[in-house]
Amino acid sequence: MALMTGEQYIESMRKMNLQVYMFGKKVDNVVDNPILRPSLNSVRATYDYAQDPEYEDLMTVTLEDGTKINRFLNIHRHTTDLMNKVKMQRMLGQKTAACFQRCVGMDACNAEYSTTYEIDQKYGTKYHENFKKFLDYCRENDFTIDGAMTDPKGDRGLAPHAQADPDLYLHVVERREDGIVVCGAKAHQTGIINSQEVIVMPTIAMGPDDKDYAVSFAVPTDTEGILMIIGRQSCDTRKTENTTLDVGNAEYGGVEALVIFDHVFVPNDRIFMNGEYDFAGMLVERFAGYHRQSYGGCKVGVGDVLIGATALAAEYNGAAKASHVKDKLIEMMHLNETLYCCGIACSAEGAPTASGNYLINLLLANVCKQNVTRFPYEIARLAEDIAGGIFVTAPSEADLKGEVTGPWVEKYLRGISSVSTEDRMKVMRLIENLCLGTAAVGYRTESMHGAGSPQAQRIMISRQGNLPMKKELAKKLAGIK
Ligand code: SF4
Ligand code: FE
Repeated sequence: MALMTGEQYIESMRKMNLQVYMFGKKVDNVVDNPILRPSLNSVRATYDYAQDPEYEDLMTVTLEDGTKINRFLNIHRHTTDLMNKVKMQRMLGQKTAACFQRCVGMDACNAEYSTTYEIDQKYGTKYHENFKKFLDYCRENDFTIDGAMTDPKGDRGLAPHAQADPDLYLHVVERREDGIVVCGAKAHQTGIINSQEVIVMPTIAMGPDDKDYAVSFAVPTDTEGILMIIGRQSCDTRKTENTTLDVGNAEYGGVEALVIFDHVFVPNDRIFMNGEYDFAGMLVERFAGYHRQSYGGCKVGVGDVLIGATALAAEYNGAAKASHVKDKLIEMMHLNETLYCCGIACSAEGAPTASGNYLINLLLANVCKQNVTRFPYEIARLAEDIAGGIFVTAPSEADLKGEVTGPWVEKYLRGISSVSTEDRMKVMRLIENLCLGTAAVGYRTESMHGAGSPQAQRIMISRQGNLPMKKELAKKLAGIK
């Protein structure tokens, strides 16, 4: 099958039999639900732009045999692929100002590609073949894949096998002739409700006692035993209030869910790791590394929108010429472009793995993500500074349209006379959406904790930073023997 159109993608999701719950009730029609639909639209954008001649080069990859695939299903062949990935993510961030969810699958695929190869080299297993077969199948159908890593983790001080409840990390509960049965859960699952397949990976490096927890595989998202519980986002129910103004970004959004695996059967040919605990750390490190690179693209694109909205707010407020406002906008751009530099740098410094696909420079990818845990917060702080308090205290769209309230809102929420009150309110609501509303889940808190919390990057930086070499440099110049 060729690349799917956006419409074909929506229809393919409509056919899935997902078990999704929200506000305590089963969601029968996930595709048309007003709270969930904007998140589906964001993934749809990854299909629509792949069909658009203007973005085709960025959004698609032509393989050696001439097959054209969506870049989200690409196995990076060189550093140019790695850089194009980041450029594509920035572009999609600019178009959606939301999380378009498809990167976790791309990052999981690339981490699995090299890790399964190396497991097979050591143990003579067939995981790499299994993985390639799975990837071919997803490419033929142009599927969206979710990459599921984070376990609920229970007591953070205990290893997986030592938890009071053994399911707090996902694990194998039965080994059968034809496959395995797993139990557990994955938390914060970006985009799982909009994916046809999910790749499950362990969440931490493991020891011999955690053998049953060192498991990786892929299954369709509507496999029996999988249940998804939608995470609440700040201001989510505004989407049910029949207003486009109050939601800030009516078209696009992101979604996360807690995903339960209750005795899910995985056939043998879908298994990519089964007890090789000594490779759990490698898979985690590579997936996390790729996703830390990803944020140097997507968050930058969303940042571009927030900076643009802030500049408009300044203009509509009549403050665009103030020197401190200009300087703050420069600072926002400087911070945002610094993140982009990191995303591009860790890609440009990438290198091939034993399997042949390209891995980012892990030190630089971790520096990238460490900056992402800080800069979007500062960008958001400056946006709030420039916008003024009205972005959180403005009356609703209903008040703007209300018979009694309308004229007053119109009159007193006006900024400069050449711009309508409604337009000023629209830009304020977009800033609210990104800094405090539904999109803040992706732009702020996910910047902190997504792809690993700040400390996880600091550990990697300390491992990869080569302090002994730096000390030698200093010793030599200082003449210390
Ligand atoms: Fe992609 Fe960014 Fe969403 Fe992760 S947070 S899935 S990198 S858009
Ligand atoms: Fe993420």
